[in-house]
Amino acid sequence: MNDNTFFRCISCLTPSTRPRITFDENQICSACNFANKKKSVIDWESRKLELHKICDKYRKNNGDFDVLVPGGGGKDSSYVAWMLKNEFKMNPLCVCAVPPLPTEIGSKNLSNFSASGFNILQITPNLLISKQIAKNAFIKYGQPQLDWLYSIFSVPLKISTKMNIPFIMYGEEAESEYGGATELEKKPNFNLDHIFKFYYSGIDLHELIDGKHSKSDLEFLTLPSKDELERINIFPAHWSYFEKWDEDMHLKLAEEKCGLLRSNENTSGPNSSFSHLDHIMYFLHMYLAYLKFGFGRATADASIDIKMGKISTEEAKKIIKEYDHIFPNQYLQSYLTYFDMTEQEFWSVCESHRNKNIFEIRNEQYVLKDTI
Ligand SMILES: [Zn+2]
Repeated sequence: MNDNTFFRCISCLTPSTRPRITFDENQICSACNFANKKKSVIDWESRKLELHKICDKYRKNNGDFDVLVPGGGGKDSSYVAWMLKNEFKMNPLCVCAVPPLPTEIGSKNLSNFSASGFNILQITPNLLISKQIAKNAFIKYGQPQLDWLYSIFSVPLKISTKMNIPFIMYGEEAESEYGGATELEKKPNFNLDHIFKFYYSGIDLHELIDGKHSKSDLEFLTLPSKDELERINIFPAHWSYFEKWDEDMHLKLAEEKCGLLRSNENTSGPNSSFSHLDHIMYFLHMYLAYLKFGFGRATADASIDIKMGKISTEEAKKIIKEYDHIFPNQYLQSYLTYFDMTEQEFWSVCESHRNKNIFEIRNEQYVLKDTI
């Protein structure tokens, strides 16, 4: 990433500031090139056969759980769990790392999902420590949901080792799908190094904890050791390697089969009523992405819709201009309470993360140096 230049993919409008993204000579981003490979190069039939073989390898024929599906009742994890159970005849255990600021609709969707015939193991990591990590990561790195990112990998991997269920099926491989490193494009599974680099941004959580803590305080915020993972021969995989990732298809199935409800709130654009419904820190996370990298949730959602052929690049530009910079005001008080901060302290932390190389001041206001 180069902090000082800001340009967008001419097709999906994802900016050059997105961590680890690359562009070809035509200013087309790695996510768009991957989207083209999904349409014409990848042999999805053989990938499906590969998944059947993997399921056969890990299937426990005594009815015990044989695959973990991390997730919280959202459209994608519901789809993956449903497919593994009904199409691949596996016995999935869904594992949910409870987010620190859950929403009402998120909780309702989780219980609807269970009522559609799934076992869910919910784990809430030590909230006192989670809050410290979140607050310090917000102040230091502008990463207010880092504690939750730790837990969505820690919880399934720890359960995997404790219950001896080596096969874990995550959803999409976000680096290839949305723009980032391309090293997992042709690989079904990933390892601890990938988690640390891509999802933890290379940040060690120990530097974010104040005072004393025991090993068990961090049980569901830290990863198992390499030795523990090797002992059970762990196989954490991404569903998007085996089947073309299609959020609309997931939404349809999750609504029809798993009782998924959409949100009535519309926070950042016309397409935000059916994703990231389960916790409110995501909206601050994306607002900080706007300050740090010059793109918020509207760009993230619109670039997916362009790649899916649902909107044109021109339509997306209008959505981005209208919504990308908006702060989720309805959640401000929740953030202040959670971080135990005054409004002035909160805004001063936000502003400290603004990348001044990509913003300029016009009429006494910061404006992104953007050409759309
Ligand atoms: Zn692109």
